[in-house]
Amino acid sequence: MRLIFMGPPGAGKGTQANFVAQRYGIPAISTGDIFRANVTRGTELGLEAQRFMDAGEYVPDAVTNLMVRNRIDEPDAEPGFLLDGYPRTLAQVEELDGMIAFTGHALDAVVSLTVDSDEIVERLLQRAQLEGRADDTEDVIRRRQELYAEQTAPLIEVYRDRGLLIEVDGMGEVDDVTGRILAALEPIPES
Ligand code: ADP
Repeated sequence: MRLIFMGPPGAGKGTQANFVAQRYGIPAISTGDIFRANVTRGTELGLEAQRFMDAGEYVPDAVTNLMVRNRIDEPDAEPGFLLDGYPRTLAQVEELDGMIAFTGHALDAVVSLTVDSDEIVERLLQRAQLEGRADDTEDVIRRRQELYAEQTAPLIEVYRDRGLLIEVDGMGEVDDVTGRILAALEPIPES
């Protein structure tokens, strides 16, 4: 199963991605988590990514694409994967198409979580208190939302045109949202 999860910052992608990936026995690959792990370890990639992340900007495509390519090449991703936070730009969509085509597989579905924008800012500010993420300040949240609307939201139409899009209401209890996603994915045959 090869899945993409999309949704604005704070839509609950990460939480849902982990549940759904576990259900399908595939790794949930979160580009945000990989970047943060690299920042913590102080790797070269972390140093490169940090200044963009702290400002709420996207890390340059070349850096992000290479990181995803390497991650998808790991043996645990051979049966499939769930991407959380990638692709975020049209250039990343094209790059991912190439990566998947190279493996002889195809994308099975793109899950788009829809949420109410007021609710999102609330959630993100709450998360800021709980996790202390450096990029969860109000200004940076606003910038991430702006970039999402400009650069990432248009990808929803790209995948809709390909007949891969599944829109799921992301509001409400975590378990209910998981249930909706799993129900929506059930009829999808694996390629
Ligand atoms: P959120 O979805 O809440 O904005 P993430 O944890 O997915 O947060 O990402 C955090 C940051 O990591 C982003 O603001 C961006 O700087 C960087 N990042 C993550 N994924 C990508 C990507 N596909 N392309 C460019 N930058 C990315």
